[in-house]
Amino acid sequence: MPSNRFQSGEMVMGRWPGSSLYYEVKVLSFNSDTQLYTVIYKDGTELELKEADIKRLSGFRQSGGHSRSRSRSPSRRRSRSRSPGRVTRRSSSRTMETRKEARKELKRKEVQEVQLSPVEKLVENNSNNKHDTKAENATAHRVSKKSEAELELNRVAVRYNLRPRKEEVETKLSEPERLEKVAKPLKEMKLSADRPTDLEFGGRIGAFFMIFLLPAMTFLLLLMCSQEDPSLLNFPPELPTLDALWDIQVFGLVILWFFFQALLYLLPVGKVVEGMPLRSGKRLKYRINGFHTFVLSTLVLGAAYYQGVDLSYIHTHFLQFAVSAFVLSVLLSVYLYLRSRRVPQDELAPGGNSGNMFYDFFIGHELNPRIKSFDLKYFCELRPGLIGWIMVNISMLLAEVKIHKLDAPSPAMILVNGFQLLYVADALWNEEAILTTMDIVHDGFGYMLAFGDLVWVPFTYSLQSFYLVNHPNPLSWPWTVTVVAINLIGYFVFRKANSQKNAFRRNPADPKLSHLRTIPTATGKSLIVSGLWGFVRHPNYLGDLIMALAWSLPCGFNHILPYFYIIYFTGLLIHRDARDDKQCRRKYGSAWDEYCQQVRYRIFPGIY
Ligand code: NDP
Repeated sequence: MPSNRFQSGEMVMGRWPGSSLYYEVKVLSFNSDTQLYTVIYKDGTELELKEADIKRLSGFRQSGGHSRSRSRSPSRRRSRSRSPGRVTRRSSSRTMETRKEARKELKRKEVQEVQLSPVEKLVENNSNNKHDTKAENATAHRVSKKSEAELELNRVAVRYNLRPRKEEVETKLSEPERLEKVAKPLKEMKLSADRPTDLEFGGRIGAFFMIFLLPAMTFLLLLMCSQEDPSLLNFPPELPTLDALWDIQVFGLVILWFFFQALLYLLPVGKVVEGMPLRSGKRLKYRINGFHTFVLSTLVLGAAYYQGVDLSYIHTHFLQFAVSAFVLSVLLSVYLYLRSRRVPQDELAPGGNSGNMFYDFFIGHELNPRIKSFDLKYFCELRPGLIGWIMVNISMLLAEVKIHKLDAPSPAMILVNGFQLLYVADALWNEEAILTTMDIVHDGFGYMLAFGDLVWVPFTYSLQSFYLVNHPNPLSWPWTVTVVAINLIGYFVFRKANSQKNAFRRNPADPKLSHLRTIPTATGKSLIVSGLWGFVRHPNYLGDLIMALAWSLPCGFNHILPYFYIIYFTGLLIHRDARDDKQCRRKYGSAWDEYCQQVRYRIFPGIY
């Protein structure tokens, strides 16, 4: 194993990229592959640094006295600038002659070059230097008369080596102009420091194409599924007319559904809980009433059905519903992107702030967009689309009965409806668990999630029931029992893994979890290494995939189309696992490596 000089949790001095300035940082982890340390600055900025850019704290501590620097903020701390004008005081063996020479050199460079800030010197002089030179004192005196705001700007400007050269200062710029000149590159530098370095989904170009690829894929799937023979040999499907794609009444119904769900979300029922701490340290509050909403929505639709409303209308206008939901998701994404341009930097998603319009629009620029206390991302994640998926399934079931003049829905249709109903009801029953997922904690709310929540989930996850309406598949009893057993095994693994991790994260000292073996990490959190979490690294994904298989099996083996979900979902979860692995390695460093050594497989035991 390559040796790493600094340990996770250790406080060290880290060089700010692009400058020669060092700040106090905490080592979070070391990546032996890239040989980089992940460190966190006191303002919450995380960066990866080379070993050469890290110094031990002891080398930077001052030899006597204490700093009278106004603030304890790391960003305001006096830095060990390596600018040419700097005098070093560390060596005790230095002779008086050398010191004199150094002072002369300092004076000479101040006259010639400038880089040193007077404020920098003020702080230095106050704090440490017992051998002040007249020149330094004079500079300090001059600067002490400046306004507080200017002092701050100067201080920061020096930190980033942005101080203009003396010649520039002496030009005819007015004071406000000069300050503006200094502040502008500083602002740009801060912005670029907050930008993600490794872009996901194929970067800018990948994200740009995904914007078009995702809806194209959805409509292709629906068109393929509408064909009498949905085999791949029948690709491409016939293109529909404009009338078959758009109906203003359908669009109205989609909007009505969205606002009906929003209204239910606002109902003051269910508890209010706090989410994970944000970068600012704040915690947002969320109302947990998803399951209530689900029950109420079902009751309203049930009442409508008994009043004679034909719910199979969704099936007959399915493509139009999908197009309307797509239009809504685009409108929502545009709104989200526009509003995200006005929010403060610390409210942006860490991964969705690349500076590229298309990438940020796709990934999601703002982390938690809210209209007062109405959280748009949290609302969309589990309500209009997820509950909408079940409504679509019910519509398909009714359409099957109607079209084939059946007394009751087919066993295959009942299984698909029943399995997916269990999945959605479970998600809403355990709604609180979503607050620790990547979507809420890490991803911004943009086109990716808006499209995923409002279009992809209700219109592609219901593909099996849509398929069964026109492609019936009789099931034998033994096969029915086998498929039910597969779904139950999947559900057991999925639910137990998720519940165990959630319970452990909420209270690691819970006596009910005392049988679990764990590995401590430098962050104070531990990782479970026994039971399901010791079997594979993502047992919850494994359970989810087993269930996905059970949802497709009732559709038989004539066509691959009903298996689209499990194929796509396997890809999604493998990609998600890779993203999570990266984040966990960053968070937990060597403890995560140890976990990976103990639990070798990611999702599929013995395979992957
Ligand atoms: P997880 O719920 O698995 O969360 C991953 C996090 O769990 C890690 O970042 C880490 O966070 C923690 N963790 C990982 N390993 C351990 C361990 N050994 N011990 C303790 N904590 C650990 O991932 P997701 O948010 O991706 O998924 C949640 C559920 O949603 C899954 O069941 C997934 O299948 C499902 N899902 C379904 C989708 C669908 O479309 N149907 C789409 C995406 C997900 P930390 O340590 O910070 O707590």
